[in-house]
Amino acid sequence: MRLSTIRPEFVEFIPRELVEGVLYVSERYQTASHKCACGCGEKVVTPLSPADWRLHKDQAGLVTLHPSIGNWNHPCRSHYWIRKNRIQWAGSMSAREIERVKQRDILDKARYIDQVNRKKVGQDVEPRNSAADSPSNQLASPWEQFVAGLQRLIGLR
Ligand SMILES: [Zn+2]
Repeated sequence: MRLSTIRPEFVEFIPRELVEGVLYVSERYQTASHKCACGCGEKVVTPLSPADWRLHKDQAGLVTLHPSIGNWNHPCRSHYWIRKNRIQWAGSMSAREIERVKQRDILDKARYIDQVNRKKVGQDVEPRNSAADSPSNQLASPWEQFVAGLQRLIGLR
């Protein structure tokens, strides 16, 4: 039977046996887990990170999970949102729509990883899309940049 509500339970460890209608949230391990709201009994794991799902708890303690839950890999293929403890069912998706959502997820993830990597490299790394604004930067070899830096330093530039 399809559920229409789910209640959060904040835990340190996600229990092995999940109770239907409970969204287990481990803030420590940044993950959440619940039994598929369609009633099929499948376990749905939603890691909590900017590239996966974001959990929002409002002042009343109601939780919202973003983006939607799409259980493409389970036989039920159910698709729903968890908004303020309520399950909002999406219409069944066609295979093409599922493919589109999957592609978007992959893109989102790639973009996020790219951002993280860029931060690791350092703040002075030019974002890729601004390269067109400064063709000289793009063309300068490390040696040319070094020379230009030296010239700036001693006031020749
Ligand atoms: Zn299901």
